[in-house]
Amino acid sequence: MEPKQLCYDKRGEILVKNLQSRHFEAYYCPDKSSALEKALELIPKGASVGWGGAMSCSQIGLLDALRQGEYRVFDRDRAQTPEEKEMAVRSSLNADVFLTGANGLSLDGQMVNIDGTGNRVAAIIYGPKKVLVVAGMNKVMDTLDEAVRRARTIAAPLNQQRFCLNNPCTVTGTCGDCKSETCICNQILITRHCRPVGRIQFIIVGEDLGL
Ligand code: SF4
Repeated sequence: MEPKQLCYDKRGEILVKNLQSRHFEAYYCPDKSSALEKALELIPKGASVGWGGAMSCSQIGLLDALRQGEYRVFDRDRAQTPEEKEMAVRSSLNADVFLTGANGLSLDGQMVNIDGTGNRVAAIIYGPKKVLVVAGMNKVMDTLDEAVRRARTIAAPLNQQRFCLNNPCTVTGTCGDCKSETCICNQILITRHCRPVGRIQFIIVGEDLGL
């Protein structure tokens, strides 16, 4: 096995224990296919499902599996009009299951997410009955400070390249701590503990996923 994989597997097991100590439900899956299998095991048939910022969920094949399965999907990515998209985003706030990724994780089991509109962090905090986080081991930093730093200086500028908005990071690839009207870093959420117990579930994947 490759050194990187060995390292991911070892750190992944530690992270899962630390997440569980904070009353999150957490699983480590070594690869995308086992992560997909676990996610489908956790989402009951017939459930309503929405998402926000869920590139890692897409990369393990979860979004397509849900679209093709027996679920009620609020699909913001396939909306035909801005009104349809808005409806999908709003419906997702009250879904049975909300899917998301993480912008940063600390090895001691805390999650950092940055949001532009706020719908994603809102859903993580309250609304959907369950929140399922899929995150690759590339998101895991040694400390919370490093996880926040990763979210702000790596994930956000990378994310911004997709939106092509006129912000400093779009031009330079580096965060300029902007106050632009089109800034995507408007809310920074640290999720340090889970109440009710088990409402937030994590699938930690032993591969690089997302941004
Ligand atoms: S420059 Fe602005 S939009 Fe870009 S990462 Fe920094 S705060 Fe976010």
